[in-house]
Formats: sequence, C-alpha cells, structure tokens
Amino acid sequence: MKTSFLFGKTTRETPSEAQIRSHQLMVRTSMIQSVASGIYSYMPLALRSMQKIEHIIREEIGNAGGQEVLLPTLHPVELWESTGRSEAFGDNLFRTKDRRNRGLVLAPTHEEVMTNLVKFNISSYRDLPIILYQIQTKFRDEPRPRAGLMRVREFDMKDAYSFDINSEGLDVSYQKMKQAYKNIFSRCGLSTIPVEADSGAIGGKDSQEFILPAESGEDLVLSCPNCEYAANVERAEGTIPSPPTQDQLPIKEVATPNQKTIPGLCKFLNIEPINTLKALFYTADGEIVFVVTRGDLEVNEIKLKNLLKVSDLRLANNTEVENKGLIAGSAGPMGIKNIKLVGDSSITKGSNFVIGANKHDFHLLNVNYERDFVVDILGDITKTEEGHGCPSCGGTLKEIRGIEVGHIFKLGTFFSEALGCLYLNDKGEQLPVHMGCYGIGVGRLLAAAIEQNHDDKGIIFPISIAPFHIHLVSLNTEKEEVVHQSNALYKDLTQTGYQVLYDDRAESPGVKLNDADLLGLPIRIITSNRNFNNDCAEVKLRNEKDSKIIPIKDISATIENILQTTG
Ligand SMILES: [Zn+2]
Repeated sequence: MKTSFLFGKTTRETPSEAQIRSHQLMVRTSMIQSVASGIYSYMPLALRSMQKIEHIIREEIGNAGGQEVLLPTLHPVELWESTGRSEAFGDNLFRTKDRRNRGLVLAPTHEEVMTNLVKFNISSYRDLPIILYQIQTKFRDEPRPRAGLMRVREFDMKDAYSFDINSEGLDVSYQKMKQAYKNIFSRCGLSTIPVEADSGAIGGKDSQEFILPAESGEDLVLSCPNCEYAANVERAEGTIPSPPTQDQLPIKEVATPNQKTIPGLCKFLNIEPINTLKALFYTADGEIVFVVTRGDLEVNEIKLKNLLKVSDLRLANNTEVENKGLIAGSAGPMGIKNIKLVGDSSITKGSNFVIGANKHDFHLLNVNYERDFVVDILGDITKTEEGHGCPSCGGTLKEIRGIEVGHIFKLGTFFSEALGCLYLNDKGEQLPVHMGCYGIGVGRLLAAAIEQNHDDKGIIFPISIAPFHIHLVSLNTEKEEVVHQSNALYKDLTQTGYQVLYDDRAESPGVKLNDADLLGLPIRIITSNRNFNNDCAEVKLRNEKDSKIIPIKDISATIENILQTTG
C-alpha cells in the first residue's frame, strides 16, 4: 500500500477528550474516527490490525474445538425477560420496537440466543460437549463511554459458549478455553496475567479475567511475585499484618475532644491505626448492623455482603445510626446491645486496642477481643492490599494496574434452566446443560496492545498484529533514481509476500520519519541519496535504537530472518 493512496492522514492534533495514550495515538494515526460518544468508525489501518487479531482468535478457538456461528444482533425482548436480564441490564440495554410495536433489544451479549440455538439442536448426552463462538457486534449503553476503544457503546467481540453434560465436563471446556486465551494473547505479542475475578450476579463458581498490565488501566490486581496467585482487588484474599502480642492492660477511659476519625484520633493519642478498632454502620436488607474492623483496614463490601448473605447493603445514614442510640465518631463494640455486631477477623490479631467509648468525645484504651467484647459474626470482610501476605505461599502481594482484555466464566445451569436447554442422559433422565462463556473485545484488545506498547514518539506494534510488517520510507523523492530504486524494492518485497506500507509522498525526511515513528510498524526500511550509490538501504526495527545499512540484494533475507526470530 502506498501512503499517497492510503485513506486517512496522520495529524499532530490530539483531541482534548483523548486522555490515554492509545486513544491519542489511534486518532493521530487516523486509525479510528469518532462518530458520537463511544461510537467509532474504523479506518483501514485499524481494520487491518483487528482482522489479524480475529485471525489469531479464530485459529486458537478453532484448535480448542470451537465452531464459528453468527447470531443476530436484534433479539426479541421476551427472551431477555425470561432470564430476568432485561431488568438486570437496565439502562445499559439498547431497546427498540418494530413497526408492530414488538419490543426488541440490540444485543449486549448472546447467552440467551446461544442457549436457545443449542436447545433446539441437541437431544442426548451424545450431542455434547459443544463449543460455539462468533465474532460479532455488541451494543451497551454505557453511562460514561471513555478512553477511546476502552469503553464504547458499540464494539466487536469474540464470544464463545461451552455446553457440557456436567460440571466435570465444564471444567474440561473451561481449561481448554483458558489455554486458548493464553495462546491468543501471547501470539498477539502481549503479556497478560490471568486473575481470579468476582463472578458477579450470575453465580458461576469460577471466573477469571486476563489483565494486561498498563499504567492507564482501571483494573487493580494483587499479584504474588513468588507464585502464580493473582486476583482482582475485590476478590483477593490475603493474610493481614499482625502486630506482636502484648500483655493485656486494664481498660482506661480518655477524653478525646473532637476526634471523630481514625487519622485524627491516632495523631491525638500518638498511636498507629493498627492499634485502633473502627466502627461502621450498614443497613443490610433493611437491618442496621454494627461492623468493627482494625483501624488500618478498609471494609470490602462484597465480602461483607457475602458473609451476611444479604442482597442489599449500604452505609447507614446519621439518622439511622442515632435512632439506634449510637454515637457515630465515638462508637465502640463494648456494651452494645440490640444490634448485630459483625467483626473482621483482624480484631483478633493485636491487643490493647483503642475504641470509641459510646459517649461523646471519649475513647477507651486497652480493649481486647474476648476479654472485653465478642461479636455475633466473625469473618474476613476487609480489603486485601499491597503488602499483605499471599494466601498460597505467604509471599508479599504487589498491586498491579491493568486493562481487562478477556474474561472466562463458568455459568453453570443458570441459562439452561431458565430457557429449558436440556439433554437426556444414558438413563433417559432429562438434565440441564452446564455452560461456560468466554469473551474478548477485539477493538479493546488492539487499544490495550497500544497502551502496553508505545513510547513518546508513537506506537511500537507487535509484529503479529501490526497493520503492515514493513514501513518503506523513501527519502529524497526529488531524485528520480532514488524513486526508481524505492519502487523496485517495494515491488520486490510485495511480490515476496511481505505487507509493506510505502511512504512515497513528496514530504520532508523529518515529516516522514516522525510519521513512521508515530505509526510504529515493526520494520523500517529507508531508501535515500546517501545509500543509493553503494546500492544499500537502512533497516531499523521500531523497538531498537540502532539501524543497519544492508545491501538491497540482501534485504529480503534480512527481513525473513527478522520475521522468523520475532514470530
Ligand atoms: Zn504466592
């Protein structure tokens, strides 16, 4: 492809709403163009990359036993109502009506339609297992589309679904897909970490996200440098630091005028948060509960919700707290009656804590669990943080910021039961199919790849997903013999089968080299006056600093060598 022919021009302008590098670089290289908030057109360069990603996905999902299908985007709303997901998706679901006033949705995902498809095409255990997938457009009415292709309202996604006779079969399909995902990301030249994730509203037992480490990512992961443990912050479990045990001292009341927060109290008494217990009040399914944790830790509301087995949980407001006769800011777990006390296991680790005295501007010193108070429910309800211990090996957990580029998920029998996707076992009994689902957003993967692979000059494309392998840059286009040499080299490389972007424009060398850095194709070949006489060209890799002068006749072999060693 000649640059003079390529649709879309590079620009020096960075749109003000482009906050992250991938967004800026994709706009500046004319890969994408915004149509409306969270809606983009893909230009030739982006589409070439995305088609390469899709090709890798098709090969790997195919190797894992997946068969490609294509389902519709328009779904009857009744199908979504039958699983309760019309309500669960709420405003995120694009809804429309046909001319006969029948409700339709623009699909944000395809579990319902896929389950129905399988339901009408299987009857016995002999028909299973099945893995089906598609690469297709999804619609989600995100409240805040942002960050270029990271959070959009219309996007292409590979979604795969597995169907097995039981949970053991599902385990096998899940492992196959996990391996396929690892292969896909590594073939795209990207390093990702598989992490344990929260399985959300649909109660699957396993769920993993593939996180691509990047500074701009909005996902936080705690990972162990010593072993393979890695989990989403919401889900992570770790061992908390334990202060050395001391002899238990007698309780003493102290005046603490206007000290209503842990930092203020610690400063006032010259102690550390780890020496305090803090009190929080929640309403859990309408009931006020008193939550007590060590002062250095934060409540993880997902863990608290799971421990209490409630569906609705929120912090109680001041009126609700006062109505219970409690004094926010000076509340403590001693002598509390008629309210459920929930304690984090951290309150048993440490001694001689400072707690609120349940009277204005007073605290108690030297309070100890069991000697002075007990709770009704004790469990792990605090956030695991960087520096806490790894639950598998005891190593020190490290926090990593990243972008979710894939999610695999055991659905179990939720959809098959709701939609009646059943099979007959070898005894003639009718049983629900066990399902898994597996997603990769194609555009987001491309954006994440750029987020992970760039420098201050531009993109550094991994070779397997670069729109072209080679950027042939012809300087000195005013010299007919250089143009002639460049044209011949372009023809030769293209005929050999390389994908070449040939910058044939009559621009200055500075503009052309800057553009080449900006687009970041893996191999750059420069033809110029300087190397014309000895029949050479300059070859440089985008991710290396130095270039080499190579005789034109050896260029093809050099490229072949580079492609073989870099995959
Ligand atoms: Zn570990």
